[in-house]
Amino acid sequence: MLHDKDRIFSNLYGMQPCTLEGARTRGHWDNTGDLIKKGRDWIIKQIKDSGLRGRGGAGFPTGLKWSFMPKESDGRPSYLVVNADESEPGTCKDREIIRHEPHTLIEGCLIASFAMGANACYIYIRGEYVREKEILQQAIDEAYDAHLLGKNAAHSNWDFDLYLHHGAGAYICGEETALLESLEGKKGMPRMKPPFPAGAGLYGCPTTVNNVESIAVVPTILRRGADWFAGFGRPNNTGTKIFAISGHVNFPCVVEESMSISFKELIETHCGGIRGGWENLKAVIPGGASVPCVRGEDMQNALMDFDYLKTELGSGLGTAAIIVMDQSTDIIKAIWRLSKFYKHESCGQCTPCREGTGWMMRVMERLVAGTAEVREIDMLFDVSKQVEGHTICALGDAAAWPIQGLIRNFRAEIEERIQKKTSQRLHAVAAA
Ligand code: SF4
Repeated sequence: MLHDKDRIFSNLYGMQPCTLEGARTRGHWDNTGDLIKKGRDWIIKQIKDSGLRGRGGAGFPTGLKWSFMPKESDGRPSYLVVNADESEPGTCKDREIIRHEPHTLIEGCLIASFAMGANACYIYIRGEYVREKEILQQAIDEAYDAHLLGKNAAHSNWDFDLYLHHGAGAYICGEETALLESLEGKKGMPRMKPPFPAGAGLYGCPTTVNNVESIAVVPTILRRGADWFAGFGRPNNTGTKIFAISGHVNFPCVVEESMSISFKELIETHCGGIRGGWENLKAVIPGGASVPCVRGEDMQNALMDFDYLKTELGSGLGTAAIIVMDQSTDIIKAIWRLSKFYKHESCGQCTPCREGTGWMMRVMERLVAGTAEVREIDMLFDVSKQVEGHTICALGDAAAWPIQGLIRNFRAEIEERIQKKTSQRLHAVAAA
């Protein structure tokens, strides 16, 4: 279990003021200029050595991503864009950072932007986060007034401007290239890659898009050292991580813990256990709605990190938004609801996603009612495989994976429902 002294987000629950003064008492903005004066290469090396992997879902190594940005400008400016769209169902971790630790994020924006040669950074915040936007804007204004942003930001000899952009609430704008389109004032539709944003991103200029948590941990990593951060978790899965646990636990919560903590310890320590006890656990979605669900018994010994969940359980850590479902859950209906969500949020640009999400949702509807035929289960699985990996952006995968997880893990329940419905029909016909 993570000790309080090792928590990066010591005000995650808002018990102390989120103002600049409050942030300073917690050690933020302490000699930020001196950290920056150590140079780009030093900062990027520290982030690489820390083993930090992106906290937005994909888990790509953050330091490596930063190193893709050009070292010398070809005349175009470079940009950092922070993805605060946080639209994945079940995910509510960045919201707590923005609400209660906005200065941690702002300081991270300055340091990370400098490391990538960017004099400007845009934070794209989701449309529904109205109060969060107000708090963050207030914190940005405070930082400007204190000369931590603007010309010679924080006495670093680096000029830096930070802009907050409020989205309109479309899920797809959480995809990095759709986010850039939206930021440019266009319809939020994902772009084909390549070119990747590091080559041609915002306004055609070199851009890195990072998640809120990935940026907010940077100042503390630099202050406490890469080794300190790398000391938590397992190799290739290091650091502390914010988990958002919802569903059928006794006390749903958002908590910072060590990466690779066991699922059981996480739930027992912070959530008061599973509602009705561990025997009552039916299924878990371990990383936000888009990753495959896992059977409850398989999760009991699971380690909560990128590699374990992927290789051992065929799922993923994603955003570390853990949705717990007990035996009272209609798991087929729960996954149908996600299918409906992804169908609604598809931007419609590519055929497998536009047509496939609707098709899959309609078959899922019939699986919920039990009116499908058993052979359609395999057909649905096949179609989900044709959607997966054949689309411009990852929304196609996000729509396919929950269905694949359902079929892999709860096929017997689907078949049982179809058989029950069929025998009810036959009885009704016989009675008539
Ligand atoms: Fe749009 Fe779906 Fe294609 Fe992504 S996968 S670009 S959301 S149609």
